[in-house]
Amino acid sequence: MAAEIRLFPCLTDNFGYLIHDVATGATASIDAPEAGPILAALEREGWKLTDILVTHHHHDHVGGISELKQKYGARVVAPHDKSAKIANVDLRVSEGDTVKVGNLAARVLETPGHTLDHTSYVFDSEQALFAADTLFSIGCGRVFEGNYPMMWDSLLKLRALPGDFRLYCGHEYTAANVKFALTVEPDNAALQARATEVTRLRAAGQPTIPVKLSDEKQANVFLRADVASVAAAVGLAGKGAAEVFGELRERKNKS
Ligand SMILES: [Zn+2]
Repeated sequence: MAAEIRLFPCLTDNFGYLIHDVATGATASIDAPEAGPILAALEREGWKLTDILVTHHHHDHVGGISELKQKYGARVVAPHDKSAKIANVDLRVSEGDTVKVGNLAARVLETPGHTLDHTSYVFDSEQALFAADTLFSIGCGRVFEGNYPMMWDSLLKLRALPGDFRLYCGHEYTAANVKFALTVEPDNAALQARATEVTRLRAAGQPTIPVKLSDEKQANVFLRADVASVAAAVGLAGKGAAEVFGELRERKNKS
């Protein structure tokens, strides 16, 4: 295995992530919700932080950057959209760029909607997708800065990745997402299976992440806005996927 990935809780319900290149010792943090748990994880592993890959400007994803940079001098990689205020940036990236973490390569996908700057990182060799607040397990981020068609396009971009890839998302929201999704698709067998698994994991105090994209494609209603039965379930039979997606997101906001 060329890389090791660690995940751990940060703040109230964020995930912290480290990805470590065994060959070179390089280690990246995906976002930096807060410094404390990231520093603790680095010390536990005996790893030195070399890079911070930032997905978007929200405080619960960047709050720990300055402390980590001060301690390790790590390179801060951030979305190209400079309208989003992120301090201490060393490298700006945009769609199609590749960021190296030691010998590991992260492909940059722009996935706007939640924010306009939102960026996801794909490590193809590790089959790992870090999608932060664009795609959650059985859910997706709120659409704060973009619009529904934009967010739907971003979700389609992530859905197009191979099913063997694993989703590492920004928050532990899966149980609440499952509860909502079952109101739309109570008879979806893949969703029912995920619901059972999530209940078991949460009861055991385990994270529900990572999850295989093939499972998400079948069970995550927000990736299924172009499925006829989902459109019908929200009273929009025959309507376009972006409109159906918008209705799903509105309902989730009110749930
Ligand atoms: Zn966010």
